[in-house]
Amino acid sequence: MQVFTKISELRKAIEEKREQGCSIGLVPTMGFLHEGHASLISRARRENDCVVLSIFVNPTQFGPNEDLDRYPRNPEGDLRIAETNGADFVFMPEANEMYPRPAATRISVSGITSLLCGASRPGHFDGVGLIVSKLFHIVKPHRAYFGMKDAQQVAVVSRMVEDLNLDVEIVPCPIVRGEDGLALSSRNVYLSPEQRSQALVLSETLRKAPEWLAEVGGDTERLKARISTRIREMPLADIEYVEILTYPDLEAPSAEVESSWIIALAVRFGSTRLIDNRLLTRDDLAKVIHSIPMQVAKGE
Ligand code: AMP
Repeated sequence: MQVFTKISELRKAIEEKREQGCSIGLVPTMGFLHEGHASLISRARRENDCVVLSIFVNPTQFGPNEDLDRYPRNPEGDLRIAETNGADFVFMPEANEMYPRPAATRISVSGITSLLCGASRPGHFDGVGLIVSKLFHIVKPHRAYFGMKDAQQVAVVSRMVEDLNLDVEIVPCPIVRGEDGLALSSRNVYLSPEQRSQALVLSETLRKAPEWLAEVGGDTERLKARISTRIREMPLADIEYVEILTYPDLEAPSAEVESSWIIALAVRFGSTRLIDNRLLTRDDLAKVIHSIPMQVAKGE
């Protein structure tokens, strides 16, 4: 495994791989790696000849009052996880390597960034779009791996790739959870034991959601209310949003179920903001909402 801090050196090494006919898989991260990141790296390992892992706490996706300065870091631990899971190249640039001067170019996906995390984190997805575009141009990967933990990010990056005809396949990867059900996140280290135990309510409500959806006859407003009520039973939980939308277009679900739905949660525990979600496919929905006419998808 080789570690790079300079764009030019990484480019040269990747160029040699590409000339040998290697397929390139990219896993973009902000470090403090855990099993969720490891699952992305090992999937990229299985599906590509050369795996590039980027570790960069990207300042442009943090708001002025967010946790950029205290974002957890552990470069030595990250390199161990990278190596164990089969990364070939690790790219760990300093901020001034990626942004020698503030970028004047904006990558802004409209519509789907105005709700969920985009509503409370203005500019966040512009920062994501910018850094992901920069990484795509530097690495020129055949495939890029993203976790469904950040489902809105997957939707935004996929839309950017579609709109700009970028020649990269976005590979969404399932959410990895701890044994207790909590979705793994670098930010979980901020949680006190009490906050952590109350935070289990997120995965608990998502686990029960299909059953609850059946009980309320497919009424998404009633399901949101039921989830919110359960989360509010936790005294340390402060709800930012509980939403049910179509996925990946993030529109209000209609009676005719044409696409997957996402149940998306953002809840604060003290100063720590946690997100979690569950995707319900049309087949999942058909099992629980018998009263809703399922529209036959094109081609079926
Ligand atoms: P981050 O370092 O938090 O920016 O995450 C880097 C990538 O890892 C993103 O694509 C995340 O969605 C993904 N990721 C983070 N946590 C998880 C998890 N628990 N399961 C699956 N993927 C994850």
